[in-house]
Amino acid sequence: MTRLVACLRSFIPPVMVAAVWLGQGILALGYLMHVGGVNKRPMVMHLVIVLATLILCLVPFTFQAVHRLPGTVRRVTLAVILGTVQFAFLCFYMLDIGCIQLMGTPPTIAWIVNYVPQLGALLPFSRHQLAFIECIPVSIWLIAVWVYYRAGDALQTSLGSVTGEITTCNCSARNGARTRMGMMLALALLAGIYIPTRAIWAEREPIHQLWGTNSGLSQMVPEGMRGVWKPETNRYLANLPVNQSPVTPRNLILITVDALRSDQMGIYGANVDDTPFLSSLYRAGKLKRIYSAYSVCSYSFCGLLGTLSSSYWHQLNPASLPLSDVLSHYGYQTRFLLSGDHSHFLGLRNFYGSAIDEYRDGSTVDAKLSNDDSILMPWLKNVAWSSKRPTFTEIHLMSVHYLGIREAQFGRWQPTKPAATGLIPKMQTAEMYRNNYLNGILQADDKIRQIFQILKDKGVLDGALVIITADHGENLGDHGGMGHGGEPYESVARIPMLIYDQDGSTYPEQQITSQVDIAPTFLQAIGAPIPGDWAGIPLQLETKRSVISVASFEVSGIVAQFGTERYKYLIGRRDGIEELYELGTPNAEEMNLARLPSAYPILEKMRALHLNILRQRGSVPGR
Ligand SMILES: [Zn+2]
Repeated sequence: MTRLVACLRSFIPPVMVAAVWLGQGILALGYLMHVGGVNKRPMVMHLVIVLATLILCLVPFTFQAVHRLPGTVRRVTLAVILGTVQFAFLCFYMLDIGCIQLMGTPPTIAWIVNYVPQLGALLPFSRHQLAFIECIPVSIWLIAVWVYYRAGDALQTSLGSVTGEITTCNCSARNGARTRMGMMLALALLAGIYIPTRAIWAEREPIHQLWGTNSGLSQMVPEGMRGVWKPETNRYLANLPVNQSPVTPRNLILITVDALRSDQMGIYGANVDDTPFLSSLYRAGKLKRIYSAYSVCSYSFCGLLGTLSSSYWHQLNPASLPLSDVLSHYGYQTRFLLSGDHSHFLGLRNFYGSAIDEYRDGSTVDAKLSNDDSILMPWLKNVAWSSKRPTFTEIHLMSVHYLGIREAQFGRWQPTKPAATGLIPKMQTAEMYRNNYLNGILQADDKIRQIFQILKDKGVLDGALVIITADHGENLGDHGGMGHGGEPYESVARIPMLIYDQDGSTYPEQQITSQVDIAPTFLQAIGAPIPGDWAGIPLQLETKRSVISVASFEVSGIVAQFGTERYKYLIGRRDGIEELYELGTPNAEEMNLARLPSAYPILEKMRALHLNILRQRGSVPGR
């Protein structure tokens, strides 16, 4: 009996280590489950992988050969292996949680390789503080190694790699063979669970996601875009009229400024002079300013893809037809010059078009510069503009985004801190975040001035149709947060839409517009037919439309205009909680009318309109 108890006791140390490793995994993945980053099956299988990794770390210490090594070497080696692997798991969890929280997507190796060199630029600390910050992970690793070193004797005894102090259990080298046998059986059992079921859960298991392409792996993309993304635009192109040349071939230029909200721009009436160039164009009567433009959602991927494929959130799918493919179909040269990394972020590049003639994004240059808009100007200066073949060019700016590189000369509003720190609660005030944001707008305005100058020098500006817009807005302390994503409140949903068109076209006032209208506007400008499954209406047309869709990972909703009144209706995708706001006043979205009996008639109306827009695929001008 005593022997049995002693034997059982000898297994306690590895069991305790397993408990610590699994506990760490359960806490991290439990949190990810809570925020929707992982579900149950991959979580269980992740724990199987953790357990198998631990066993693999311990197996070498059951061999008699290890027994012959000097005691200290054996103990230090075991401590370093266990401490390092556990620390690696801890770092991985923190990275996974960070990426899913901030970007809505898990990390991949390709992404990490691209982003790691930029980390320094994101940290708000001085050199001295940075050294202090670096000490934290080193200290955690040292503590882990030290703890395993302290526990080393007990661990080795239980593994059978030292002659046991628990002599009654005969925990000798012979016992090491038994332990090893037990471990191999356990590994075989875990492999028996892992191998046959892998296809079912691997796509959502955090470690397997590291080797993914980052496409469709995020739960934060629309239902239709999950799984493997394979754009099938050719199928749609086949339905377009053949041999129908555009009536008026013109160069088309789309400038998207990441995270730019209209109400912070001088040209849109903000009480700051942060858009001197755009305002001067507007005053000269060269720019059409569209109010009431909404983004499809509050994130980049749906804002950018929704713009290019004229699709609302619920319509986005791998087969969505992008503008660039339609234009290629009509003989256009297509060109993407993008600041920011669009290759690794959800594999956005795959959806910009299947026949892009020229593509450059921030990930194709030195990683440190991938969010630096100054990379764009040499690209733009060097591209050729053919007088025979019109071109579609999309230019993406990161100057306003919290990851965008800020140039000192645009630091007009102070005090500031690097904007990325706004994502870490309590690291900066809303005032500092907004100052940095306004400086970003001032910088973006100057980049647009440079772009216009280059286009002018090339002689392509005046014949071109240029639309300047954003993929989504930005919270500047609105709704208790900074940054973007989350529910499509006005701060993240309202975007600029500025049209430079010197061809005499008119753009009537619209009561409500959406990003989905941009691609049809380009096609209308060249007299090309608009694909039937696009949701937008050309801005050149008068429309009776009064409802547009706004959405996010969290909610689905609409904005509707009834005469002079505008309402927003949102419904939670998970909890079904409804929100109803009468827009127009500064704090309108702090007063949820959905539970007020007096608002019931309008709530009913908004519910019906919401269901209607969800059923709708494409819309016909004027309808
Ligand atoms: Zn964005």
